[in-house]
Amino acid sequence: MTAYFPRESDTVRVALSPDNAGKLHQLGFELVVQSGLGEGLGWRDQDYMAKGARVVANADVPDGCGLVVRVNHPPGDQAAPRGAVHLSSLDAFRERELVGALAAAGISAISVEMIPRTTIAQKMDVLSSQASLAGYAAVILAAERLDRVFPMMMTPSGTIAAAKVFIVGVGVAGLQAIATAKRLGAKVEAFDTRPAVEEQVQSLGAKFVKVDLGETGQTAQGYAKALTEEQLAKQRDVMARQVSQSDVVITTAQVFGRPAPRILTSAMLEAMRPGSVVIDMAAATGGNVEGSEPGVEKRIGGALLLGAKNLADHVALHASQMLSNNYLALIEHLWDKETKALKIDPSDEILAGCLLTHGGEVVHPQFRQPTT
Ligand code: NAD
Repeated sequence: MTAYFPRESDTVRVALSPDNAGKLHQLGFELVVQSGLGEGLGWRDQDYMAKGARVVANADVPDGCGLVVRVNHPPGDQAAPRGAVHLSSLDAFRERELVGALAAAGISAISVEMIPRTTIAQKMDVLSSQASLAGYAAVILAAERLDRVFPMMMTPSGTIAAAKVFIVGVGVAGLQAIATAKRLGAKVEAFDTRPAVEEQVQSLGAKFVKVDLGETGQTAQGYAKALTEEQLAKQRDVMARQVSQSDVVITTAQVFGRPAPRILTSAMLEAMRPGSVVIDMAAATGGNVEGSEPGVEKRIGGALLLGAKNLADHVALHASQMLSNNYLALIEHLWDKETKALKIDPSDEILAGCLLTHGGEVVHPQFRQPTT
């Protein structure tokens, strides 16, 4: 079976490391890699060739190819040949038309951000590996843009108080942001609507900010449920006070399959000390902060607001290594040793969550009904 890894223009990260090229080759794949795939990371064409891959100059998907792997969703429905498997993040909730087009093109599209958050799927969990690095990168970016240091310093020239960092949303990204800010010596506080998070925040040495929102809950997968407008208003009251006392605010709040909750207003940022930094890690899914846009930085009052875009690209080498390991684990899970091909069984416990199209149809229940 031939597997093809094209270059992508919208990220530095790649879905295949040379080491994993060797492992896929040993498994039985004919590997085809577009020239320059890993050049942004120092992975040269000859590194892939040394591991058994064939390097091609153009972007055309090779004839007879059975698997195409990308980091992000394909540029159009010519993603892979009819009957082939396409593996990538599809951003499916916002790319519903693409999902329909992939089904019509007879492609079996697997969307890696839909991989279930279960123990067996942990090593395939692209969302976690990339969110964790993005949380780290957000803190480093904030530290770099802030006009003060993170740790407390007592020096003959004077005493410097530790910076106050506030993290909103403590999933995978938020936890890594807390840990990173703590390592840099900041005073860290955090909030999440899922009560289960309080203990995790405390175990990292940070303070959990309590807000009495009544029933909040989480889904069976551990995702937050959307708050009511009344609950969000209550949350904003507490956030306003908290934000005004912080030097750095990093927001990571997401509600799976929906636009991100709007939590911080421009008025809250205007009340911050001049020189403060706010990073909205949810900018690409609608934004936790009023006015944030992915990849755009602006001043709101004295605060600098950064709308995050591809934060994992800031640490692209490690992000690509982890991503490549996630993809390898999923491909190994699907590999049928007897037929030496991928086995696409829609009832497989992992595929049931992340196979969106198969056999010319949209097969995932959440995407068969456009309103859910
Ligand atoms: P996510 O990216 O969906 O959301 C980030 C955080 O935002 C979540 O913690 C969520 O509770 C929070 N949030 C939502 N609305 C909010 C609001 N109004 N204010 C403040 N915070 C808000 O989350 P994630 O990082 O993808 O993690 C989702 C869940 O999956 C977590 O329970 C996590 O522990 C779990 N998880 C499990 C596994 C596994 O078992 N294999 C792996 C990774 C994550």
